[in-house]
Amino acid sequence: MSRPELIKDVVNSIAEYVPGKSIEEIAKKYGIDPIDIIKLGSNENVLGPSQKAVEALISYASKVNIYPSADASELVEALSVYTGLPVENICASGPGMDGLLDNLMRVLIEPGDEVVIPTPTFSYYEIAARANGATAIHVAPGEGLKFDITAIKEAITERTKVVFLCSPNNPTGLLTSEDDVRSLLESTNGLVFVDEAYVEFSDKSLSKLVLEYDNLVIGRTFSKAFGLAGLRIGYGLMPEWLKVQYMKIATPFNVSLPAVMAGVAALSDSEYLEKSISMTVEGRKFLTENIPFKVYDSQANFILVDVSPLVAKDVSESLMKKGIIVRDCRSFRNAGESLIRVTVGTREQNEKVVSAFEEAKAVSN
Ligand SMILES: *Cc1c(COP(=O)(O)O)cnc(C)c1O
Repeated sequence: MSRPELIKDVVNSIAEYVPGKSIEEIAKKYGIDPIDIIKLGSNENVLGPSQKAVEALISYASKVNIYPSADASELVEALSVYTGLPVENICASGPGMDGLLDNLMRVLIEPGDEVVIPTPTFSYYEIAARANGATAIHVAPGEGLKFDITAIKEAITERTKVVFLCSPNNPTGLLTSEDDVRSLLESTNGLVFVDEAYVEFSDKSLSKLVLEYDNLVIGRTFSKAFGLAGLRIGYGLMPEWLKVQYMKIATPFNVSLPAVMAGVAALSDSEYLEKSISMTVEGRKFLTENIPFKVYDSQANFILVDVSPLVAKDVSESLMKKGIIVRDCRSFRNAGESLIRVTVGTREQNEKVVSAFEEAKAVSN
């Protein structure tokens, strides 16, 4: 029996979250040995985790009878060194950056507030904001799927609490310029949340602007460049006044002890990070140059392919049948029917991806 009347109206109206496909799902559906499946649908790190992080996890496993520090201070201190920002501007969060978004929405949103979400983009902003009572105002993309800064400004009202800006954006991989972010920060009485989940793979971070503006929050994660998606660690860079309020309502002990220590270890493993970045930059170039369809100019660890005149449903299915998991972007608002997102893999995986796209194109001719 279902009791929708017990559920908040807004939750009844929210569509179910669509994650990337899992290895188990595809193995079963197409009868493929899981070992032969290449998972490039969720932008995880194909290098596996940093060995230093794994060692930290193992050595703290025997201490999990003890609560971690309430504010993950060891991790916040290491993040201060990594980002060059004072600890007063940094909050560690779990589960992942998603936990940061959820806590922030609980701090900020009152019924009647609006949030502005340029699309296509990461879907959790809308879920976290609406579940806490906000109305989401979606802004259609401009030319070449770039965020339309003029249209975003037009969508800002006196009720706007947060403008969400993912840069590099998921699923397009496109970066928003510093000038555009500055002009948005100056166009709203609300906050601007810049999601830098993929910043390590890009040319530019806006972290220093946190010290310059009192309405900028930057979200970061250990799930992508640091290869710790399964640990669910994120962090936020924010003005000092906001951290004080945030810490009052953040879920207590929201980063587990092994996660705190693995995060510290991952930050110390610069060799892993450099390898992860150089492999991605190289692979991204290879995929962009060799996939026989339009590929957007990505600054992230994935590329976005426009397979038109073919449709994403057919092409992604043909890749999945070959054991290559990619993300059909039809579930992203305003992404149309022809976009497929592919995580950059190892050289060998990327070659298989290119061949699979070539075959999909040949079959259609
Ligand atoms: C992966 C991703 C996140 C989520 O990060 P977690 O720390 O794993 O919760 C946030 N934003 C974007 C754009 C992402 O792609």
